[in-house]
Amino acid sequence: ALYQMKSKRGGAVEFFSSDHQQLLKRRHAIDFALQAGDFSRELSLEFQPVITLDGGRLVGFEALARWNSSRLGPVSPNDFIPAAERTGIVSRMTAILLSQALDAMKLMPDHLRLAFNLSARDICDRETALALLVQIRQSGIDVSRLDLEITETALLSDFDTAAEVVRMLRSAGASISLDDFGTGFSSLSHVHRLEFDKIKIDKSFVLKCDRDERSMNIIRSVANLCHNLGIQSVAEGIETAEIRTALQASGVDLGQGYFFSRPQPLAAVLQGIAMEDGR
Ligand code: C2E
Ligand code: CA
Ligand code: CA
Ligand code: CA
Repeated sequence: ALYQMKSKRGGAVEFFSSDHQQLLKRRHAIDFALQAGDFSRELSLEFQPVITLDGGRLVGFEALARWNSSRLGPVSPNDFIPAAERTGIVSRMTAILLSQALDAMKLMPDHLRLAFNLSARDICDRETALALLVQIRQSGIDVSRLDLEITETALLSDFDTAAEVVRMLRSAGASISLDDFGTGFSSLSHVHRLEFDKIKIDKSFVLKCDRDERSMNIIRSVANLCHNLGIQSVAEGIETAEIRTALQASGVDLGQGYFFSRPQPLAAVLQGIAMEDGR
């Protein structure tokens, strides 16, 4: 909405844009920059370690997209992924990012896994999903090293197609993680109707679980649910040693967060792996 205010000089009316209008402006700028983006040059990945909470062993990384726009500079994936979904170009981005992810995996030891985020568009269309699978196969990377992450909201628009795609990817050997668990709708029905290999507890619960008993209880319940289903729970957004310890005590299997490491460019991550091997 516009805020209408009397100017100090009286009479004339000035318009001040609200936060909402700033947001719309930013959105338009992002949509516009996306049209002109040269993604094979401007898109890259950072990698965040995934750690076993008891033992602190590195099991792999989550690949997180970065866009350094020639027009806007760095743009957060929280802004450009939804924009790319809106404008229908996200699957082109996914293909470019997947190719970078597979190249990165070739440089990592075979026992390390890589979690890769898929968007709603990628899994609500059979051809798109099949093309991704072909891309993985052609890379020579063992499909079973991949954790494909999908959100609950991605399942909502066309559940039947999404479910078929998830089953197809899973029977091809990929692991499937349910991302942002607890933030969408009817979570339990999704868990019932589809088989997942991991459930990721959203950071909104993890960030405040040391101050908020309800969040802690929800985390505990999800960890139990996963144990009963025979699958792994993953907590994201672990920022302190205290929270790590609390989650471990609650039976959460895997964790990621700034306490262990921020997402980092490939070179830094490979250097870290080499140092670990040298010890
Ligand atoms: P997500 O998949 O839930 O990823 C976790 C986000 O939490 C990442 O934000 C990560 O950097 C951040 N994070 C990790 N540890 C901590 C921590 O200890 N504290 C806090 N406060 N945050 C932490 P990021 O990289 O900005 O990505 C945001 C979202 O953008 C992702 O959320 C995901 O939904 C989307 N996204 C990122 N990369 C891709 C991609 O390649 N494809 C698709 N489709 N979506 C992506
Ligand atoms: Ca994710
Ligand atoms: Ca998540
Ligand atoms: Ca999230």
